[in-house]
Amino acid sequence: MGVYAVTGSASGMGAAVVQRLIDAGHRVITVDIAQADVVADLSTAGGRRDAAEKVLAACGGRLDGAVLAAGLGPSPGRDRPRLITQVNYFGVVDLLEGWREALAATGNAKVVVFSSNSTTTMPMVPNRAIAALLDGDAERALRAYRPFAKMAPTMAYGASKVAVTHWMRRRSVEPEWVRAGIRLNAIAPGAVLTPLLEKQLATPGEARAIKSFPVPAGGYGDAGLLADWVVHMLGPAADFMVGSVVIVDGGSDAWFRADDW
Ligand code: NAD
Repeated sequence: MGVYAVTGSASGMGAAVVQRLIDAGHRVITVDIAQADVVADLSTAGGRRDAAEKVLAACGGRLDGAVLAAGLGPSPGRDRPRLITQVNYFGVVDLLEGWREALAATGNAKVVVFSSNSTTTMPMVPNRAIAALLDGDAERALRAYRPFAKMAPTMAYGASKVAVTHWMRRRSVEPEWVRAGIRLNAIAPGAVLTPLLEKQLATPGEARAIKSFPVPAGGYGDAGLLADWVVHMLGPAADFMVGSVVIVDGGSDAWFRADDW
């Protein structure tokens, strides 16, 4: 049985992944801002450093896998673009960089990063913000959202998810990851009914946008079904899976860009 680190473990899809891993007999080190083995605020560099170190201490320097599910949705708020940037992007890349050697130590580790179908369906996300994030420059990314005013959190969300997906794909084929047996992949959910989406649905403007968004299958996704895909991507089925992005979104991505492949 393996040892896995899961961020965003206290709620939604992260919590559903934790439950499935525990049910399968694995040991899980949970990371969240509350109600977790490792309580850490991933919106600060210090919190991320602390989380990385405490997980390494708890796993004895060996991880069979990791799931990076901690994230914030594009709800309104003045400080929201900064928080989204810090948690959704740096909360993934800083932890994975900190855990790389522990993942390499098992020789066959699997990692699933939470992306989003906003990476392919959201228009106008500024490329210069994505480039800034990949350069590690949060302040430059934040400047790129200013012209969007009220839409800044949405742009920050889209950019954080595109950038974290590009980061994952770039690293997935680098020898220090792939030759060490680490399989980096991402899941890209559409609208899944979790506390994150419920919060958006409780805000009239956001609810309108979400309800008018095409979902050919109808309704919203279920956190448990998404967790089933993640757990599959942590198992031997992913031995030959490198840098893949699995879209599970009820058909929204196919609706927008069926031939764009
Ligand atoms: P959720 O709100 O249910 O869970 C997110 C978790 O992240 C929470 O437990 C929260 O405490 C944690 N978190 C937030 N800020 C944190 C911080 N500063 N430090 C530590 N932990 C923090 O959300 P969810 O819907 O399960 O989302 C999981 C992932 O899936 C997120 O990355 C989200 O962006 C992504 N996603 C969600 C949807 C959706 O429709 N729900 C769609 C696409 C992508």
